[in-house]
Amino acid sequence: MKTRIALSLSVSLSVAMLAAAFIVTATAADKDKKKAHKAHPTGYTDTPMLPGEKWRVHDDSRPRPKVVTAGKKYGEAPSDAIVMFDGSDLSQWKKDDGSAGEWIVKDGYMEVPPKKSGKGGYLFTKKEFGDMQLHIEWRTPDVVVGDSQGRGNSGVLLMGQYEVQVLDSFDNKTYADGQASSLYGWKPPLVNASRKPGEWQTYDIIFEAPKFDDEGKVIKKAYVTVFHNGVLTQHRQSYLGRTGHKAVAVYKKHPAKMSFKLQDHGNPMRYRNIWVRELDFDSNN
Ligand code: MG
Repeated sequence: MKTRIALSLSVSLSVAMLAAAFIVTATAADKDKKKAHKAHPTGYTDTPMLPGEKWRVHDDSRPRPKVVTAGKKYGEAPSDAIVMFDGSDLSQWKKDDGSAGEWIVKDGYMEVPPKKSGKGGYLFTKKEFGDMQLHIEWRTPDVVVGDSQGRGNSGVLLMGQYEVQVLDSFDNKTYADGQASSLYGWKPPLVNASRKPGEWQTYDIIFEAPKFDDEGKVIKKAYVTVFHNGVLTQHRQSYLGRTGHKAVAVYKKHPAKMSFKLQDHGNPMRYRNIWVRELDFDSNN
């Protein structure tokens, strides 16, 4: 019995000594690591100048980007986003005539109301935007009605005029430059990433507003990048002009910031979780 206790004590002591040695070693290693980390410069003042910039390579005086807290999971608004629709009301939206938007709000989504209700029409944002990142989720009706452009049609019209088409393009033949994620009447999407009718879908859109000179001549076209359900469908694609139907689009001078709008095309389309990050691609950092 005594031998067993002695043995057990000796094993415990050895373990304790080993643990202590490990802690001492680990603390010393941590200190070394901290020392090594401290030794890294936060930037440089003697590196070559970057071409066309006022900064050196790794310039220590170059402003650091502002901190943004990202959403916890995909689709959640980051800290600097303006929430345009969180499922509760249409306080950020209006009709074309400036009166309150009247689309149906239910169970966390908004829906294009039936024509006979008289409450439909395009829905405009009260706030105006130029360059921006837009997250928007949409759903075509689960019961398929109609075909081609008559089936689950809506649209996100950036600055009220540059459309990213919304359509039920799941096994629904229509012209290529009119299917979901197309720049309507101009550029088909790179691929058809559509989900089935009745399933929620996402657009993540990066939009660059066009610029005009005093005479109204375009000095920079509008550009758009679109991810449809996380799949790249438009890669910094320029617009030909203001979206139209059966016509070649042309630009017409407009203000630097404008409302974007959602199309009522007579189908009971739903939207939810809409947020915008205002951007300015001209600001140079
Ligand atoms: Mg449309």
